[in-house]
Amino acid sequence: MLNNKKIPMVDLTEELQLLRTPILEMVTEVLDSGQYVLGKKGIELERAVADYVGAAHGLGVANGTDALHLALRALDIGPGDEVITTPFTFFATAEAIALVGAKPIFVDIEEETYTIDPSKIEEVITENTKAIIVVHLYGQAANMNEILEIAAKHDLKIIEDACQAIGTEYNGKRVGAIGNIGCFSFFPSKNLGAFGDAGFITTNQTDIYKKVEKLRNHGSDRKYEHSLIGLNSRLDEFQAAILLVKLYYLDIFLHSRNEIAKRYTENLNEHVKTPPISENREHTFHQYCIEITKRNELMEVLEKNGIASSIYYPIPLHLQKAFNNLAYKQGDFPVTERIATRILALPIYPMMSFQQQDYIITTINDYLASNG
Ligand SMILES: *Cc1c(COP(=O)(O)O)cnc(C)c1O
Repeated sequence: MLNNKKIPMVDLTEELQLLRTPILEMVTEVLDSGQYVLGKKGIELERAVADYVGAAHGLGVANGTDALHLALRALDIGPGDEVITTPFTFFATAEAIALVGAKPIFVDIEEETYTIDPSKIEEVITENTKAIIVVHLYGQAANMNEILEIAAKHDLKIIEDACQAIGTEYNGKRVGAIGNIGCFSFFPSKNLGAFGDAGFITTNQTDIYKKVEKLRNHGSDRKYEHSLIGLNSRLDEFQAAILLVKLYYLDIFLHSRNEIAKRYTENLNEHVKTPPISENREHTFHQYCIEITKRNELMEVLEKNGIASSIYYPIPLHLQKAFNNLAYKQGDFPVTERIATRILALPIYPMMSFQQQDYIITTINDYLASNG
């Protein structure tokens, strides 16, 4: 234990100390405005995040899962359609596909980046395939050039699940502005986090923008006139106001994540596999994950020393009970399955001190030097 304090995966308390005053000012402004859903702060945030990502349009929605769900709806994907994605992601990525009545088709991941392996996509494309959902996992961009080529060749749409990767660049563009639609989550622990649930959609296509704008608000064209069956999936004014403050600090916080990641890699790479960053791709380190065979032992040692660690994700999606109907089995995606037994996320957050990090590094290296 360091100074009698546990080190959690994410600690937002110091960040709050820094931002408390501007956030309280913003929240007070919303309180006094009397407008709590679909108001000025939401519009301001939509412009600001779209500009940040480099997309023509942006729309606030209720959460990242709804962003994916609405993206699929906006592309008219539904029953009978197939959508290709990775089995190594948070459940919501494939859940959204099932929610619109379409079928998730999984493709294994690259060994080094944990993102979908483009060389394995074409073999699963059928006449029912409509789209690919790429996931920029842990903050690292997927191999977009190859995926864009495949999509163009087979006339498929690309949805970017950028829930873990706001600000990540790929060949000079930010993720979320590369495919047809970008989906973001502003869940509190994400790299840009609200104080509750929040999500966002980006697109360069005006038709998609107009359709999502309608779908998130009950398919309504104007009050009490509905041309589509939609959802109630709006981003409230309080969360929008808080996110406007936090967006201002985002680049500083992402820089800090990168510095922490660099220090981990420099100091841990003798004993464990540290995350490689592929050429042309950026990483914003929503998670810093190592690979280790004796994972449970290390987790216990960390726990005993007051250090949190976590597994993202222990059960690949093709082996989840909820997807039993898809009839995948153990062995279908060997890279994913192997990584799922070895991956371990270490604490990382912008306000983590070097003292905290050194304590984590020493604990890991001391253990592995004697038990590696
Ligand atoms: C967090 C996350 C989501 C879901 O976002 P919510 O805001 O929690 O609904 C989807 N995909 C990925 C990769 C995520 O990390």
